[in-house]
Amino acid sequence: MASIKILLDKCTGCTLCVKACPFGAIHMADRKAVIDMTKCTLCGACAAACKFSAIEMEKAAGPKKDLSAYKDVWVFCEQKQGVIQSISFELLGEGRKLADKLGVKLCAVLLGSGMEDAAEILGERGADKVYLGDHPALKAYQDDPYTSVMVKLVEEFKPEIILCGASTIGRSLISRVAIKTSAGLTADCTGLDIDTKERLLLQTRPAFGGNIMATIIAPGHRPQMATVRHKVMKEAPLTPGRKAEIVSKAFPEEVFASRTRLVEVVAEVTATVNLSEADIIVAGGRGLGSKENFALLEELAKVLGGAVGASRSAVDADWIPYSHQVGQTGKTVCPKLYIACGISGQIQHLIGMQSSKIIVAINKDPDAPIFKVATYGIVGDVNELVPALTKEFRKALNK
Ligand SMILES: Cc1cc2nc3c(=O)[nH]c(=O)nc-3n(C[C@H](O)[C@H](O)[C@H](O)COP(=O)(O)OP(=O)(O)OC[C@H]3O[C@@H](n4cnc5c(N)ncnc54)[C@H](O)[C@@H]3O)c2cc1C
Repeated sequence: MASIKILLDKCTGCTLCVKACPFGAIHMADRKAVIDMTKCTLCGACAAACKFSAIEMEKAAGPKKDLSAYKDVWVFCEQKQGVIQSISFELLGEGRKLADKLGVKLCAVLLGSGMEDAAEILGERGADKVYLGDHPALKAYQDDPYTSVMVKLVEEFKPEIILCGASTIGRSLISRVAIKTSAGLTADCTGLDIDTKERLLLQTRPAFGGNIMATIIAPGHRPQMATVRHKVMKEAPLTPGRKAEIVSKAFPEEVFASRTRLVEVVAEVTATVNLSEADIIVAGGRGLGSKENFALLEELAKVLGGAVGASRSAVDADWIPYSHQVGQTGKTVCPKLYIACGISGQIQHLIGMQSSKIIVAINKDPDAPIFKVATYGIVGDVNELVPALTKEFRKALNK
């Protein structure tokens, strides 16, 4: 276990550590720092801030890994009912950039049953190598067999980096794999890059309620693992006929043992909108002023053949259900056109929509932050402009 202690003879009571602790875990008593271990996460911020070397941290001792033995960038490619999910193509697109920066191979991991043909697609999406685990027990996702197979693959082939979708499956799988392989893991990344000198994965994600963007590294750990939300990265282009080396791996039967049994896969009851897949989204915020005015957006969305999105303020005001919320605690979307109506553009909202191709912002405040990310901005009253746009689009589109 890692530990931390204050060296009382060195502590001067300067309070730098109190200010540096992000978790409010340090207070002063008799001019000496005291750490509340119920709040301390052993992040080390206090030790780094102390100018008198009065805080001693001891890292957990464990068998040392030979980090240089780890190479290649892996992408866990999720499949459902034999169909590779588009998040996998997005991760392959990002993985290609990382692998090129490191000068290593981009490898895909595909687990399922009867997936040989699907594995070919991953070559066409940029994978140099595909590790294929094909077994009836892997047909649909289950925690135990998927984790055991991934761990076996990681132990044998030692990837430097593993990317995985921040989906229900991805989150459940990769956290288990990270624990079993003593890897570093950062969830919900919105940006990835490489420190080529140190061969570190730079993992950027919102932190402290989305108020700051933190770049997280995992020095001393391999693999370095990150999950990324759907629609944050661009899909890898398709190169028909491009081939990857397929490495089919067989494992002893006990590797596929599961403590749970899959009874049935029930298709999701379709929500009223499928925001994540929509090409056009008309989204509204507090600027609409009322639930009745919010209906204006539905008219515009209908004419454009799009879906309706919302800021959290609109959802909190009960103008529209939560399934429409876009942002950090809602959905991440990447439509061709995002029309933001009466939305100020706080970071927590932008995180969910800023990679949209074209952003049109309508706001009566010319200094609203949404204009910083907008392709086109209209300064004016949404309640006048939205009906006017609906009328014009209806005319232009003959609807
Ligand atoms: C942990 C955490 C998670 C969060 N997650 C999310 C999230 O997932 N999604 C999200 O959206 N927010 C989220 N938020 C909330 C976020 O910080 C903002 O409070 C929210 O996005 C603001 O919504 P808004 O832009 O609709 O409202 P406001 O910030 O109140 O902005 C309203 C805008 O409408 C304009 N306006 C007013 N009247 C008119 C008019 N008649 N015509 C034109 N413009 C007008 C105003 O100028 C203003 O810019 C989160 C916050 C926290 C702390």
